[in-house]
Amino acid sequence: MSFNINDKGFYGAFGGAYIPEMLYPNVEELCQNYLKIMSDPSFKKEFDQLLKDYVGRPSPLYFAKRLSEKYNTKIYLKREDLNHTGAHKINNTIGQILMAQRLGKTRIIAETGAGQHGVATATVCALMGLECIVYMGEIDIARQAPNVARMKMLGAEVRPALSGSRTLKDATNEAIRDWINNPLNTHYIIGSVVGPHPYPDMVARFQAVVSEEIKWQLQEKEGREKPDYVIACVGGGSNAAGAFYHYLDDTDVKLIAVEAAGKGIHSGESAATSILGKEGIIHGSKTLLMQTQDGQITEPYSISAGLDYPGVGPMHAHLYKTGRAEFISITDDQAMTAGLELSQLEGIIPAIETSHALAILNDKKFNNNDVLVINLSGRGDKDLQNYIDYFKL
Ligand SMILES: *Cc1c(COP(=O)(O)O)cnc(C)c1O
Repeated sequence: MSFNINDKGFYGAFGGAYIPEMLYPNVEELCQNYLKIMSDPSFKKEFDQLLKDYVGRPSPLYFAKRLSEKYNTKIYLKREDLNHTGAHKINNTIGQILMAQRLGKTRIIAETGAGQHGVATATVCALMGLECIVYMGEIDIARQAPNVARMKMLGAEVRPALSGSRTLKDATNEAIRDWINNPLNTHYIIGSVVGPHPYPDMVARFQAVVSEEIKWQLQEKEGREKPDYVIACVGGGSNAAGAFYHYLDDTDVKLIAVEAAGKGIHSGESAATSILGKEGIIHGSKTLLMQTQDGQITEPYSISAGLDYPGVGPMHAHLYKTGRAEFISITDDQAMTAGLELSQLEGIIPAIETSHALAILNDKKFNNNDVLVINLSGRGDKDLQNYIDYFKL
C-alpha cells in the first residue's frame, strides 16, 4: 500500500477535485503544470535559495536535553518556529508564489482564519511585488487585530467576509468566488494540505523540505536517518505532511498526528476532525469532516486558532483510516500546560498549535531508547496574550 497520492489525485478514498464547473479551468491549469514546474531546475534553484537566504533554512534539529530527561526518552525538536514569520507556513507560500510567477499570474488571493497564512502570503507578495488580497471573516478580523495590521503593513488588502458565521469557511467561499471571477491573472494560495487536487499534493511537496532535512540532521546526530516516532499537530495538516513526507512509506517510523480536542472530544466544542468526522466534501476535496446528521458542517472549536478547522487534508484522512498514523487528541488544558512546560524546561515558547503536539508526552509512554522528532511548527509570540490570560501571569 502506498500512502502517497495516486495519479488520479487521491489518497486511498480521499482527495480528488470536487469543484464547480466555473473553477475547472483554473484548477486544471495548475494540475497540468505543477509537477512540470516544480521539477524544472531553475524553479528548484530559486526555491532552495529563498528557503536558505530568506526563510533561514535549514531549521535546526535540536536535542531537547531537559525535556528528554523529564520524559526519559530522546526528544528532538524540529525548529520551524525559527523560520522567517515564525512558522512552517512560509515554506508553502514561497513555493506557491514562485509557481504563480511561472504561470504568469500577477494577482494573488488567499483566505485566512487566524491570519497566520494571510501574513505568510502577504510576506511573499511583498517579496515579489505582486498584488495581494486576503479574505478574512469579519469576526476573525476583530479577533486577530495584530495579524490584520501586519498584512496591511506588508501592503496587502484585507477584505472582510460578511456572510455566514463570518469566519474561515466564509473567507474561503469569498476567495473561491474571486478566483472564478478572475481566472486569468489570479493565483489562489491555499494555506494547508486541503482543497481540490493538486493543492494537497503541491503543498505537501513544498513542506516536504522539513522531513528531507530531518533525515540528514538525524543521521549526523544519531547515525541513522529514521527516528522511531515523528509527531506533529494537525489543523489542515501541512506541517505534519511536511514532517511525515519522506517517512510515509517507511512503516518502521511511527507517525503520530495530534488534533485539538478543545474542551473535550465529546463536549461539542472541539476540532478532533478524524475521530469525530465522517466522509464528506469540503473545499473541493473528499475527506473527513465534522458534520451534523444531515451533512451540515459543524463549527469547530479549539483554543488555538490554527487547529480550528472542521476538516482535515485527504492525506491525513487516509493515514487515519489505514492506521498508518496514530491520531491522538489533546484538550485546551493539556496543550496550555505543555506550552508552559516547554517554555520553562527549554526556553522555547511554542505556538499553542504546537503545544498540542508536545502534550502527548504526558499522554503516551515512550521507551528510554526511543528517538522522537516533534515538529515545532511555530513560535508562541502571537499567542502570548492567550497564555497570559490562561495562566493569569
Ligand atoms: C497554521 C498552523 C498550524 C496548523 O496548520 P497545519 O496546516 O495543520 O500545519 C500549526 N502550527 C502553527 C504554528 C500554525 O501557524
